Amino acid sequence: MEKINTLIGFMNKYSTESACLEYLTAKRFSDGEYCPHCGHKKVYSFSDGKTYKCASCRKKFNVKTGTIFEASKIALPTWFLAIYLLSTNKKGISSVQLAEQLGVTQKTAWFMDHRIRETYQQKKTKLSGDIEIDETYVGGKEKNKHANKKVSGTQGRSTKTKTPVVGIVQREGEVRAEQVESVNKDAILSFLKKNLDDNHTLMADEYQVYNGLAGLRVNHSTGKYVVGNTHTNSIESFWALFKRGYIGIYHYMSKKHLQRYLNEFVTRLNGNKSELSNFGKFAYSIENVNYRLTYERLING
Ligand SMILES: [Zn+2]
Repeated sequence: MEKINTLIGFMNKYSTESACLEYLTAKRFSDGEYCPHCGHKKVYSFSDGKTYKCASCRKKFNVKTGTIFEASKIALPTWFLAIYLLSTNKKGISSVQLAEQLGVTQKTAWFMDHRIRETYQQKKTKLSGDIEIDETYVGGKEKNKHANKKVSGTQGRSTKTKTPVVGIVQREGEVRAEQVESVNKDAILSFLKKNLDDNHTLMADEYQVYNGLAGLRVNHSTGKYVVGNTHTNSIESFWALFKRGYIGIYHYMSKKHLQRYLNEFVTRLNGNKSELSNFGKFAYSIENVNYRLTYERLING
C-alpha cells in the first residue's frame, strides 16, 4: 500500500487521466483481466489501449464498464479527488462542499457522492468477542426545529418520522450498522446472524427488546453506565459521530438513502480503527468500485 497521507501528495500523483486509469486498471484486474458482462477470463485488448472485447460474449468493454465511473463525463482525476475527500473527512463531505471543491454543479456532486457511497459496502466478515449492540433513530421531518435539535430531539422510539437503525461494535474492533423497519427481535436476530460470529458476548442496554439476546446488560436508569467492563459506550460514540455528520455536514438524510450514509460512516470508522492511511481509505473504494448506480436507480429505486 502506498504511503500517501496528504492531499497534496495524492493530487500530485493522480493529476492525470492516464495515472488514474493505470491505477484503476491495476486494481480492477489484479486477478487478471475479465469481462464485466459475463465474467469470462479470455479477453482481447484493442490497440487504443482502452477497449477490450470478450472472447465469449463478444461484447466490448473498458475498465470503467460496470463501475461507478461508467458513462460518467467527469474526468477520473476529479473522481479520484472526490473519493479521497469523502473517504478521509471524518464526518463526510456534503454535495455543496464537494461541488465547490471540484468545480462541478451541486447536482453532479450529489450524484457522485452517492455513487462513491456504493463502494463503501460493509464488510462481510463476522465480528466476535465482546460486542456492544444498540439502536438509534435517525431523521424525520422536523423542519421547524432548530438545526442542532433535529437529531438530538429524536431520542424517542417513535418510528412515525424517524428511521430505526441497529448497530454493533466489537470492542477495539469494527462496526456494522443497518437500517431496519422496526426494532424488534426478528430484525435484530437477522442483523446479528449476518454480522456476528458464534463466539461472542453481547452487551446491551436495558431496552427490553434485547431480553434473552444479550448476556450482559447496562442499566442506564440507575446511572451506572459502566459495571465492570459492561457498557455500550463504543456503539454510542459511533451514533454520536454519525449524528454529528448528520447535523454538521448533511443536514438531512432521506430514508431511501440512509443505508448508504450508514455504510459511509461505518467504512470510514473501520478504516480509522484498522489504522489505514488516507490513501488506504481511498483504495478501499477503488477495490469496491464494481457497483454501477444509475441516476434512474438512485432517484426511483
Ligand atoms: Zn463476456
